[in-house]
Amino acid sequence: MSVIEYDVIVIGAGAAGLTAAAWLAQQGLRVALVTAGEPTACLSTGCIDVCSHDDEPLSGIAGLPDAHPFHRVFPELLRQSLEDFRQIMADMELPYEGTLEKNRRVLSAIGTFKTTCLVPVTMQASPQSDDEKIHLITFTGLKDFYPGYLLSRLSNASFSSYNAGVSTTMGIAAHFEDSVFLETFLSWLERQNIREDKIAFPAVLGLESASSILRQIESRLKRSVFEIPTLPPSMPGRRLFNAMKDHLRRQGGSIYWNWPVAGVEKSGRRIEAVSTVTQGRPNSLNARAFILATGAFVGGGLWAKRDRIVEKVFDLPVFAPENRDDWFEQDYFSMNHGIGQAGIVVDDAFGPADCPWNNVFICGSILARTEALKYGCGHGFAIATGRAAARSCLERLK
Ligand SMILES: Cc1cc2nc3c(=O)[nH]c(=O)nc-3n(C[C@H](O)[C@H](O)[C@H](O)COP(=O)(O)OP(=O)(O)OC[C@H]3O[C@@H](n4cnc5c(N)ncnc54)[C@H](O)[C@@H]3O)c2cc1C
Repeated sequence: MSVIEYDVIVIGAGAAGLTAAAWLAQQGLRVALVTAGEPTACLSTGCIDVCSHDDEPLSGIAGLPDAHPFHRVFPELLRQSLEDFRQIMADMELPYEGTLEKNRRVLSAIGTFKTTCLVPVTMQASPQSDDEKIHLITFTGLKDFYPGYLLSRLSNASFSSYNAGVSTTMGIAAHFEDSVFLETFLSWLERQNIREDKIAFPAVLGLESASSILRQIESRLKRSVFEIPTLPPSMPGRRLFNAMKDHLRRQGGSIYWNWPVAGVEKSGRRIEAVSTVTQGRPNSLNARAFILATGAFVGGGLWAKRDRIVEKVFDLPVFAPENRDDWFEQDYFSMNHGIGQAGIVVDDAFGPADCPWNNVFICGSILARTEALKYGCGHGFAIATGRAAARSCLERLK
């Protein structure tokens, strides 16, 4: 068995785990992030929901139920963590716009509007009122994007369709990274004689260079351009994940990809190591502290058995509405689904309550009573609690 030693091991590569790991690595600690696979960010719009159920994220958080874990993040730490996120994304050439004072809206792939806090710069020009005139570009055969929905809901919209030679989101996005393709496309776009103020695209403007591709289109067409997030696989979500992952590597953090944690070594009040089995051999990763950021049900951190819900790495006690009838419902994505409350209860230092170990910290959507769908506490909550848990972890190690 190979044995590797770190200061901190973070489990899970979502917005929470990546934030915690990168910040601790930046403080000079030896950090490893171990993940079973991709996070829910890859399914998302790439927009950062902080608290979308209110027009103003900060007043939305203030109005959350008393037991909501967002109340454990000090307002100045929330502000700092989102400012740092914006700075990091700017450094990674994936700038974000927005403010904690006011939510904004982005046009969705079905012509409705999503409320969010920070948006990638490629969605900055998304219409904020219904009377803006928009020209929509569609791509022949593109799956997961339905221009008919958009055109039926937007009164001032027209469209053109381009044949990119491929019909998948990833395939078209990869084409946009090619300067010859881009030039051919721009020439075609100029010939459309677009009169509307804004040009909208499904989110396919490149894999990594989206903001630069968008600027090139804007400068040639002399129009504002914006992307509309599509159904998964979502390019903006994937760009967000890739940028956060690359940032962690730049800070010197190690990433163990496709390494689901399968076992834990304990000693007294401490977790000593987590073990994984990969490529046929067992590995033990030792550390002084551990941060659990394995997400809720979609991420894989929680698992619903017939009669109870379990946390899969440390077998921590899971809070859930008492009766199964209160958390069982067919439609997992319904806003008020009781199972959205399930998760790990933490203390002020983001350590798990009712648990013997003092070197474990928890962050992200695995926290009890988060109800991410109901309150719109998505990546913003994950980033803020990731930072808060990392800070408590650093203080404990000192
Ligand atoms: C379909 C969908 C769309 C969404 N869209 C948005 C959006 O547009 N904007 C927004 O702000 N929020 C959105 N959300 C919510 C948002 O994705 C989550 O609230 C938030 O990002 C959760 O982050 P996390 O870090 O807590 O966990 P996750 O993103 O769930 O990550 C968990 C990680 O843990 C890993 N893991 C799990 N078990 C193990 C194990 N045993 N060993 C090792 N690793 C493990 C997983 O592989 C994964 O990498 C969306 C959620 C879903 C499901």
